[in-house]
Amino acid sequence: MIKKYYLLSPGPTPVPESVLATAAEPIIHHRTPEFSKIFMETTEGIKHVFGTKEDVFILTSSGTGAMETAIVNTLSPGDKVISINGGKFGERWGNICRAYGINCKEIVLEWGKDFTKEQLEAELKANPDVKAVFATLSETSSGAVYDIQGYGGVVEKTEAILVVDGISGIAATPCPMDEWKVDVMVSGSQKSFMIPPGLAYIAFGQKAWKFVGNSKLPKFYFDAVKAKKNLEKQTTPWTPAISLIIQQKKSLDIIKSMGLERLYNHHRILGEATRAGVKALNLELLAQRPGNILTAVKTPPGIDGAKLVKTMQGKYMAYIAGAQDPNKGKFFRIAHLGYMGGFDVITALSALELTLADLGYKFEMGSSARAAEPIIRENWI
Ligand SMILES: *Cc1c(COP(=O)(O)O)cnc(C)c1O
Repeated sequence: MIKKYYLLSPGPTPVPESVLATAAEPIIHHRTPEFSKIFMETTEGIKHVFGTKEDVFILTSSGTGAMETAIVNTLSPGDKVISINGGKFGERWGNICRAYGINCKEIVLEWGKDFTKEQLEAELKANPDVKAVFATLSETSSGAVYDIQGYGGVVEKTEAILVVDGISGIAATPCPMDEWKVDVMVSGSQKSFMIPPGLAYIAFGQKAWKFVGNSKLPKFYFDAVKAKKNLEKQTTPWTPAISLIIQQKKSLDIIKSMGLERLYNHHRILGEATRAGVKALNLELLAQRPGNILTAVKTPPGIDGAKLVKTMQGKYMAYIAGAQDPNKGKFFRIAHLGYMGGFDVITALSALELTLADLGYKFEMGSSARAAEPIIRENWI
């Protein structure tokens, strides 16, 4: 067979051809009216996707840079915070906090397990001195989505701010920042925003801006006040990743012409089709509250999980993602976010079937596509 590569990972994700083509255009200078226009249109587009009236800052960094920006601009050394750690990315909030001397009380969940707003309310009652709650919209390591709307309602009634990692979830699943009372929202370019890695996005609500005024943690590159002053002049403090911003503008045009509701529906259909396909193979999902961004599937008994991922990636070139440490081999992750369509789900399921057959798993060949196809066909939009 010709070796054709299928990127089915939850980040980086495939980039539309029309977006990639803009990367071949000559570089324009960033301190020009021509670039400012593109920059401001891009900023407006991200604001729309974030569901906020607040400023959105475009940072030249990967998503983790926006997470660090959230922390260094709102907190001071010794501040007490709560972080909901349901996997690799929830864990990152705690790691960044500790690097800056923040007293982080981590709620460590078994991967895939939910954490309800009532549980958060009880935590906040027991810890009234908490300054911030860190949560994740879509925990990319487990496929779980969390009740950000519920958390927003709980945190709103306290003195604390709610900081949400929407790096894989934003632009794939609803999370309107202002309506759901999210105080700080962060996202990144290489997941549902459909462009290559290298940009991160952050917005602060009114309650969070008060924290910014009092924050004593050190910051320089990621200083939100500098970013705000520069945004007022339609520019950035530092040289931005010019060509990525141009690509983001192009992909936001695609999102805008589709509309957010259709975009979320599209992801919901892909999620449902994937789950139906996986269940038809008698495989189990990891997440208690599975999202429509990616599907984490438990490795069936008797099958070597590492070998499954290696076969899918190496032999069939269907680049799904394995499980990260400390759960390597226990499950695998099929992504369906960003520039992925119904047939990408079928590709992933077919490659999974071929792999399972190679590894000696007993199932009826073709059953996963047979379960997924009607869902894709009946909901085609
Ligand atoms: C990808 C991802 C990150 C990390 O982003 P980088 O761009 O690798 O820095 C953080 N959180 C979530 C939920 C992610 O999916």
